[in-house]
Amino acid sequence: MYYLENLATPVVAEYDVIVAGGGASGLIAALSAQRAGASTLLVERANCMGGTGTYGMVAQWIGFFNRRRRVVGGIASELADLVVSLGGSEGFKQYLMAEASASPIPIVHFAFNPEVVKIACDRLVEASGVQLRLHSRVVAPIQEGGRVRGIVVEDCAGRAAVAAKVVIDATGDAVVAHAAGVEMAPAEVASLRQAQPLTLMFRLSNVDVAAFRSTPRDRKRELALEGLSQGRIYWESLSFCSTPGNTDAICLMSRVSGFDATNAEDLTRAELEGRRQVQSIVAFLRERVPGFQNAVLAAIAGHIGVRETRRIAGQYTLTEADILGAIRFPDSIALGAGPLDIHEAGGTGIALHVPQQPFEIPMRCLLPQGKEGLVVTGRAISATRAANGGARHMGTAMALGEAAGVIAALQARSGTASVAAETVRAALRQRGGFVSIDDHADHFIETTT
Ligand SMILES: Cc1cc2nc3c(=O)[nH]c(=O)nc-3n(C[C@H](O)[C@H](O)[C@H](O)COP(=O)(O)OP(=O)(O)OC[C@H]3O[C@@H](n4cnc5c(N)ncnc54)[C@H](O)[C@@H]3O)c2cc1C
Repeated sequence: MYYLENLATPVVAEYDVIVAGGGASGLIAALSAQRAGASTLLVERANCMGGTGTYGMVAQWIGFFNRRRRVVGGIASELADLVVSLGGSEGFKQYLMAEASASPIPIVHFAFNPEVVKIACDRLVEASGVQLRLHSRVVAPIQEGGRVRGIVVEDCAGRAAVAAKVVIDATGDAVVAHAAGVEMAPAEVASLRQAQPLTLMFRLSNVDVAAFRSTPRDRKRELALEGLSQGRIYWESLSFCSTPGNTDAICLMSRVSGFDATNAEDLTRAELEGRRQVQSIVAFLRERVPGFQNAVLAAIAGHIGVRETRRIAGQYTLTEADILGAIRFPDSIALGAGPLDIHEAGGTGIALHVPQQPFEIPMRCLLPQGKEGLVVTGRAISATRAANGGARHMGTAMALGEAAGVIAALQARSGTASVAAETVRAALRQRGGFVSIDDHADHFIETTT
């Protein structure tokens, strides 16, 4: 049975470029398109920008460094510098990821206070000329003759249509591309309910971070296995990011499997299960884990963290072999760093692997097949499941976003979907971006802590 709607949606504005989703990738995409001369609208369903990193409270950017080599620059660097200058981070540091697991790995991360990142995002957008529309959900593309011509948004006031020459889908879930009928990559799981688990982040105040950090790794692993065997924690993780000043721990410890994150009924049950897990984990930490005795639950993320949903089947699909073999692409427009990071649904462990070298991501991964007026960036680019595990980190999403902005601005200006990769690469390099494996060679992390 269907309820047939007869809608006449007013067209309220027109832009060169509209970016759907203001997360890691979409924020940078909007700034990038505007800097490339396109009038740009950024539409975000939440009350802030930054996406999974801010309202999802995943409070560390990785993907900026492959081992010790820097692979992301450009606007993402400006954002990181601004966050540091506002006191929201102590900058890039060496960090042992998943240290209570069987296979921890050293990486370079940028831990931050998500509240300060929200403010930094505001400042960059306000200074840029990008038009920002928060509290607005993109619900459909406008299409004419098979070409995307804008979007329909819904907010408290109702529905509105906004026209654009090019739309960038940065929703992470390929919301626009999917609704426009773009072919999706095979999910490689029987159902999205078997996709990687969800994680509800939470923040504890009054933590003695130094006491935890100085606890030997073996002891942390023993404690994690103890909590797991008692059913009080949910995977081999006592991982958290500490905010500047080392007072708060933003914990990456819940693990919720079996739900499809594109389905609101599933997400509802996942959020409730996440909050049930948070209560159990907090009690275990307070009782057993050094540094957490006096911890206070300060915040729970505004949206459960989603690792995996739809990906487009674009003009090229990035594979794990491309990443591990550091395959060269003449149309590479961003560098990934890894690690390859797949959490199996229902599992309690984690498999992490850092590629030997940075890897190139071709422009074609952002371009859907047979659909003009649309560029896809961030978590939903065309990649196999395993490759996505290495390319979904926020540093990489930001580098992809900068490229997407340039591509969309050039498409909008020329009125055609075919833009020369060399033009995009030159523009990105001019802004301090890294587009080829050769570009990064002289950039090493200076911090050794
Ligand atoms: C639990 C977890 C831990 C992770 N750990 C790390 C880590 O330690 N470091 C790291 O770098 N990466 C990590 N990641 C990966 C990373 O956070 C994501 O892959 C990354 O944020 C993807 O960037 P994005 O811009 O594609 O998506 P997002 O950052 O999720 O942004 C998508 C944005 O689109 C908006 N949106 C969605 N649909 C609509 C719509 N219909 N209308 C309007 N707006 C919409 C959302 O509100 C959001 O702001 C983790 C992810 C999870 C879930």
